[in-house]
Amino acid sequence: MNHDLVIIGAGPGGYIAAIRAAQLGLNVACIEKERMLGGTCLRVGCIPSKALLESSELYKEAEHTFKDRGINVGSLSLDLEKMLSQKDRTVKTMGGGIDSLFKKNKITRYSGHATITAPGKVSVDNGEEKTELEAKYILIATGSEPSTLPGIELDGDRVGTSTEALSYDQVPKHLVVIGGGVIGLELGAVWSRLGAKVTVLEYLDRILPTTDFEIAKEAQKIFEKQGIEFQLGCRVTGVKANRKTCDVEIADAKSIRCERVLVAVGRRPNTENLGLAEIGIALDKRGFIPVNDHYETAVKGIFAIGDVIGGAMLAHKAEDEGVAFSERLVTGYGHVNYDAIPSVAYTNPEIAAVGKTEEQLKEEGIEYRKGVFPFMANGRARAMGQTEGKVKMLADKQTDRVLGVHILGPRAGDLIAECAVAMEFGASSEDIARCCHAHPTLAEAVKEAALAVDKRALNF
Ligand code: FAD
Ligand code: NAD
Repeated sequence: MNHDLVIIGAGPGGYIAAIRAAQLGLNVACIEKERMLGGTCLRVGCIPSKALLESSELYKEAEHTFKDRGINVGSLSLDLEKMLSQKDRTVKTMGGGIDSLFKKNKITRYSGHATITAPGKVSVDNGEEKTELEAKYILIATGSEPSTLPGIELDGDRVGTSTEALSYDQVPKHLVVIGGGVIGLELGAVWSRLGAKVTVLEYLDRILPTTDFEIAKEAQKIFEKQGIEFQLGCRVTGVKANRKTCDVEIADAKSIRCERVLVAVGRRPNTENLGLAEIGIALDKRGFIPVNDHYETAVKGIFAIGDVIGGAMLAHKAEDEGVAFSERLVTGYGHVNYDAIPSVAYTNPEIAAVGKTEEQLKEEGIEYRKGVFPFMANGRARAMGQTEGKVKMLADKQTDRVLGVHILGPRAGDLIAECAVAMEFGASSEDIARCCHAHPTLAEAVKEAALAVDKRALNF
């Protein structure tokens, strides 16, 4: 079979690249080894985790905050099976949506494991037969999978990864999470809200290592108040799974007995059996595929994007690379501004950021001014009863150009979009401060933080 472009992997990187390339007139094929299109993000990542975060938050609100607002509900109970099936339905519906998009854009889909046999040649093995494809260009968008630690055997039951933690059939009495990163905090929050005792063990002396330190520290305090336990500076040496419990062994400390263990210590690129070494593509020392500015690998005509090339492991980063790749291939233009990629942890409150942290600015010797505005002084946050957290804006001391924004607070994930747009347009804090923001909205906290850069916040 001949195609202009063959894409391996139908995650947010691969399927979006396929759609954009097809829009631009290429004859595109996409190979996916799983039955459902959408990749990690749709099957076992962004979407199912957000469905559970939303449901568990509603459950917690009904349990704790409805009463304060004069809403009395009868006795509250959890139907976990139904909660999980709502999540599964959401995923299935969205998977069907990508199938329709493939049909609409006339993208040919192949099911099976892809191996590159030579430049321009890909073999697809679906377990029963092999199909040989030929293409002018090949795009690798094979994503990533959970990492584990030496001494820990993932049994897919008591000791598992995020994939299992999206589908526990009962609320564990005690869940130990290894890793205080985004997955640990999001999925830890889900099960804590549903009634589990949750202990997060983090190797470093802080949680969320890439988040602005002041924000991460404040977030940890809030999560502790919500009942999550943290043990920082904690080196896990092994996990012993018993019939009904597990023992998590820690260097220089007592082991912890719990019901389930979630290993959330990062993700590693998916490059197994892709045929890379055989065609001359060497991996970097962390296992990622090296690419140039055009996303081209060491072999001409073979490109790679998304989690498999490293950088921020985020769905929207993979998508934007997919668009940039296809546009550059067809039109000669296309680019991603890596300085303005937002990130969001969907905890409560949410944590969102774009641009540089205060630590990075100090390290790079960049002089900056800082504006902070707390949500407790924002009318909408007060009305919502969600006053924890703040907006922190960092702007260049000389030019006032916004260099970073860090938000801990309600709907931070939505608020950060304004800041990413501002940074894309090279805005100053003064630009944001002078834009009219509707009242009463949470977005006014962003405007006030911008005013605070120049020490002229109005409501604080
Ligand atoms: P993937 O989504 O991993 O897709 C790669 C696809 O390639 C997979 O479907 C795989 O089956 C297929 N594949 C691999 N090898 C082959 C082969 N040889 N042949 C055929 N097919 C192959 N990111 C966010 O931005 N926001 C979030 O809220 C968020 N939440 C997350 C929650 C969890 C629990 C997890 C695990 C991740 C989350 N992420 C989130 C990260 C996000 O899922 C990834 O960054 C994103 O999916 C990467 O996209 P990708 O296209 O590079 O790879
Ligand atoms: P992560 O890199 O965010 O966090 C892993 C944490 O584990 C780090 O804090 C690290 O210090 C810690 N750790 C590493 N080794 C350890 C050890 N031996 N003992 C204890 N702690 C250890 O990785 P993650 O949370 O697994 O998430 C993987 C990827 O998925 C991330 O890159 C993230 O971007 C992406 N993701 C994004 C979202 C989102 O955007 N909302 C949600 C989930 C996942």
